[in-house]
Amino acid sequence: MASVRVAVRVRPMNKREKDLSAKCIIKMDGAKTSIANPKLSEGAAGDPSRDSLKTFTYDFSYDSADSGSSGFVTQEKVFRDLGCDVLQAAFEGYNACVLAYGQTGSGKSYTMMGNPGDAGLIPRICQGLFGRIDNAARRDEASFRTEVSYLEIYNERVRDLLRRKSAQTCNLRVREHPKDGPYVQDLSKHLVQNYSDVEELMEAGNIKRTTASTGMNDTSSRSHAIFTVNFTQAKFDAEMPSETLSKIHLVDLAGSERADATGAAGVRLKEGANINKSLVTLGNVISALADLCADADGSQKRKSLFVPYRDSVLTWLLKDSLGGNSKTIMIATVSPADVNYGETLSTLRYANRAKNIINKPTVNEDANVKLIRELRAEIMRLKALLVRGNQVALLDSPTALSMEEKLHRSEARVLELTKEWTNKWSETQNILKEETLALRKEGTGVVLDSELPHLLAIDDDLLSTGIILYHLKEGPTYVGREDGAGEQDIVVHGADVESQHCVFDNSGGTVTLVPLAAALCCVNGRRVATPTRLNQGAVVLLGRTNMFRFNHPKEAAKLREKRKSGLSSTLGLSASDLSKSCDNLSAVMLYNPGRELERRQREELDRLELTRHQIKQMEAKQRSEKAKLQRLRREVESRRKESEEARQRILRQEESLRRRSRDMESRLRDFLEEKRRFDQLRRADQELPRPQEELRREPRQPERLEAAQLSHKKGAAAAVTLFSSEEEEEEKKRPPAPISSPDLHNLPDHLNSPGLDNLFDHPNSLGLADLLDQEEKLRVQRPQEDKGEELWHKKQQIHAGHLVPDTVPLSDRRTNIEEEVERRLQRFNLNTSSPTMDPDPSRHQCGSGNAEPPPLKGSVRVNIPRYVLRGQGKDEHFEFEVKMSVKDETWTVFRRYSRFREMHKSLKSKYPQLAILDFPPKKLFGNKDEKMVAERRNQLERYLRSVFEVMSAASGSPLRQDDERAAFAVSKRSVCELSPFFKKGVFESGRHGTG
Ligand code: ADP
Ligand code: MG
Repeated sequence: MASVRVAVRVRPMNKREKDLSAKCIIKMDGAKTSIANPKLSEGAAGDPSRDSLKTFTYDFSYDSADSGSSGFVTQEKVFRDLGCDVLQAAFEGYNACVLAYGQTGSGKSYTMMGNPGDAGLIPRICQGLFGRIDNAARRDEASFRTEVSYLEIYNERVRDLLRRKSAQTCNLRVREHPKDGPYVQDLSKHLVQNYSDVEELMEAGNIKRTTASTGMNDTSSRSHAIFTVNFTQAKFDAEMPSETLSKIHLVDLAGSERADATGAAGVRLKEGANINKSLVTLGNVISALADLCADADGSQKRKSLFVPYRDSVLTWLLKDSLGGNSKTIMIATVSPADVNYGETLSTLRYANRAKNIINKPTVNEDANVKLIRELRAEIMRLKALLVRGNQVALLDSPTALSMEEKLHRSEARVLELTKEWTNKWSETQNILKEETLALRKEGTGVVLDSELPHLLAIDDDLLSTGIILYHLKEGPTYVGREDGAGEQDIVVHGADVESQHCVFDNSGGTVTLVPLAAALCCVNGRRVATPTRLNQGAVVLLGRTNMFRFNHPKEAAKLREKRKSGLSSTLGLSASDLSKSCDNLSAVMLYNPGRELERRQREELDRLELTRHQIKQMEAKQRSEKAKLQRLRREVESRRKESEEARQRILRQEESLRRRSRDMESRLRDFLEEKRRFDQLRRADQELPRPQEELRREPRQPERLEAAQLSHKKGAAAAVTLFSSEEEEEEKKRPPAPISSPDLHNLPDHLNSPGLDNLFDHPNSLGLADLLDQEEKLRVQRPQEDKGEELWHKKQQIHAGHLVPDTVPLSDRRTNIEEEVERRLQRFNLNTSSPTMDPDPSRHQCGSGNAEPPPLKGSVRVNIPRYVLRGQGKDEHFEFEVKMSVKDETWTVFRRYSRFREMHKSLKSKYPQLAILDFPPKKLFGNKDEKMVAERRNQLERYLRSVFEVMSAASGSPLRQDDERAAFAVSKRSVCELSPFFKKGVFESGRHGTG
C-alpha cells in the first residue's frame, strides 16, 4: 500500500504576467504551499486573515519561481526527488507513473520533457534507467529489455506517436487484457538499447505531437501524452532466476483550465469538451479514489464505491496507475501570478485531493520464474521430508521412494525451466546486443531491422520454420559445404553445391558475389560465372536448392527516397546506377510490386464496379422494356380478341343475312306463287266479261263501277281478301273523302284498257304492286311518261333477280329487298282488294256513301305473309307471321310451328270436326331448312284458312255464323275465344315478340 505522492511546482512569471505586473501569490515553505487571495490580501493590506491565505501540504513543494533565490528548485532536484523513486520502483519490478497536472502554460511539459539543455523528468528517467542498466550489465548482475511507446489522446482518440506509417497511427482501439488490464491495441513498441534510441524516438514523437497541436492553432498541448517504458529485468538472485516487468507511464496532461477559457482561445467546442471530459473524469476518479481511501482509513468501509475509469480513455488507460498496481506521483504545476488565482487554487485543491489515493503496487514477476520459484520451494520441502525420513529409517518404504522420484522430477523440471529461461534471455540479449540488429514489434508483427547488408535464407525444407539471417560484414563471407577445406561462414548443402562454392565480398558497402571454380550461382534467375555486384532485392540461388534474398538496407533507403521523388528519376537511376544483373528487376522494384499489384487490383475493382453498375442499369432498362413489351403484347392480344369477336360477329351477321336472303327469296317465290294464283283468278274473272265491259262502257259511273267490281270480286274474294293488310284496314278506318265527278274524268288514261289490260296481261307481271306504285308516281309526274317504261324494265330486272343496283351493299340490298317486297305486298293487297285499281283509296269509297261492304260469310281473313328467324344458338327457330282481319280489326301474331300444333291438338279435342283437316306433319329433319319452312308456311296458311272455314260452320264454335245474325257477331274477340293461339300476347308488339 502506498499513497500517491504529490508534488506542487510553481514556475517563474512569464512575460505576459510580468507585462501585467502581476503579483506573486504563491509561497512555499518546506512541503507547504500557500496561496494568497489577491483581492482579500489587497483589501486587508498585509493583514493575512484566515481567508486570504490558504495553505496546503504536499509531499514536495517546489519553488521554481525565481531562479535567483536560494530555494530555487531545478529540474535536477525534481528528478532526484521523484525520478529516482520511479527508477527505484522500476528496478524493483513495480509499475510507476508520473502525472503532470495543471493549467495551460503552468509548466507541465517543462517539468515532464523540459527544454533543450534543460531536460525534464522523462529524459532524465530514461537516462537514469540506462545508466543503471549499464552498471548492472557491467557487473553482469542481470540482463534487461526496454521497450518504449508514445501515444497521445486527442478528442478521445488514441494516436500512436511513434508509428512510422501514418495510416495506422490514428484511432487505435483500447482493449482490456484479462490479466494485464487495459492496453492500446496495435500500439507500436520499440525496443531500445540505449538512451540515444529513446531520445530519437522521443523527439520523433514530440514532433508529431507538436504538429498535431499546431494544427489546432494553439501552442499549448491540446492532447494528453503518455510516454510508456516497458522495462524487463532478468537475473539470478541467489541462484534463483528472477524476471520482473515494470511499466512506467510518464503522462503530460492537457491544460486543466475550464471550457470557457479554452472557448475564448477559439478551440472548437468538441475538442474542449473532450479535453474536459478526460480531466473531469480524472477529477472524478481521483475524488472517488480519495473518498474510498479516506473511508478505508476511517474504517467506515463503503463496499462498492464506483470509480468511473471507463468514462474517458485517459482514466481507462491509467487505471492501474490510479488506485491500482502502481507507484504513482502527481506533479501539480501552478503559475505564481495573481491573475491565475482561480485556476491555481483549483489545481492545488485537486492535488490535495489526489494525496488521499492509495495504490497497491506489487512486483510483477514473470510467470515462468514464479513457477520455478514454486518448484524450488517444493524441492526444498521434499528434501526436508526425505531427510526426516532417513532419520526414521523409512528409506525402503514406498512413500519414501515415490517422494524421491517426485523430488527428482521436480529438480529436473526446475533445471529445464531455468535453462530454458536462461537461454532465452542470454541468447536474445547477445543477438540484440549486436548493434546492427533491432527487433521491434509492429502491431502483431515482429520487425527485425538490420543496418548491414544481409541474406535471408529461403529454406527449401517445408518443415523448417525459423528465419535465418546472414549478415554480410565488411570483408569476405565464405560459402560452402560443411566438408569444405576451410571453415565456411555460411554452410549450404544440396545438389550442385561445391565444397567451396562462392564468396560474398563486402567492400565499403558494395557487395559482390564471386563464384568459385565452376560453382552454380544464379542472380535473379540468370547464371553468373564472374564476380557480380548485388543490389537490393536480388534473388541469389546457390546450387540447385539454396535460395537467398539479398537486402541492402542503406541502398533500399536511398531507393525509397528516389521513389518518393518521382518515377522518372528512378527510371534514370535504373539505367545508370544499377547493375546489369538486375536491370529489368530494379525498375519494377522501384514501383513496389506490392503496391503496384494493389493499384492494379484497385483499378480492376473500380472497373468491375463500373461494369456492375452498367449491368444494373442495363438490367433496369431491360426490365422496363420487358414490361413495355408485355403491355404491348397484352394490347395486341386484346385487339386480336376484339377483331376475332368482330369477325365472329360479322360471320354471324353474314349468316343471318344469308338466311334472311333465303327467306326473302322464298317469300319472293311465295309472292310469285300468289301472283300466279292471282293471275289464274283474274283469268277466271275475265271469263265473266260483264264487269269489265261495264267498266269500259260506263267509266263515269263510279257507283256502278264499284258495285260491279265488288260483284266481280265476289268470286275471288275468298282468296284475294286474305291478302288484305293492316294498312288497308287503316285506310278503311279513315272517313271517306268527298269526290267530285270531274275527278273521275281525270282518271288516268292508262287505267283504261289497254293500259289496264297490259297491266294485268303482262307475262311477267310479278312486279304488279310495283307497277301500281309507279303509276301512282306517274300520276304525280305526268310529263315523264317514258319513265313508266323505264320502270317496267326495272321490274323486269327485279324479276330477273336484280332488284337493286349493285352498288348497294349486300346487307342493305337485302334489307331493301325485304322492305321493298313487304311494301309491294301490302300495296298489292291494297290494290287487289280495290278492284277499281284506284291508287287513291279514298276515291273508290266516295260514291258508295257507306264504304264498308257488309262482311261476308267466313269473313275471318288470315294469311301468313312471312316467317322470321328468332332466338339464338339452340333456341334458333322460325316464327310465322299470322295476320288476321275480322271486320275492321286486324292483328298479327308470331307463332312457331309447335304452337300451331298445340293449337291444332287442343281445337281438335274440342271440335272433332277439325279431325278431317290435315295438319302439316312434323318433320324429323330439316326443320330449319328454308325450303321446308317456306313450304310449311304455305301449308300452315292453308290449314288456318281451313280451320276458320270449318269453325265458321261448326256448332258451338264462337265463329259460327247463323244466317240470321249474318257475320256481324264474329269479331276479334270471338277469334281469340276460339283459341289463345290467336290472341296477341303482352309482348307481341310486332316482329320482336316471341311466339
Ligand atoms: P504547459 O505544458 O503546462 O502548458 P509549458 O511546460 O509549456 O506549459 O510551460 C510554458 C512556458 O513556461 C514554457 O516556455 C516553459 O519553458 C516555461 N516554464 C514552465 N515552468 C518553468 C520552470 N519551472 N522554469 C522555467 N521555465 C518554465
Ligand atoms: Mg504542455
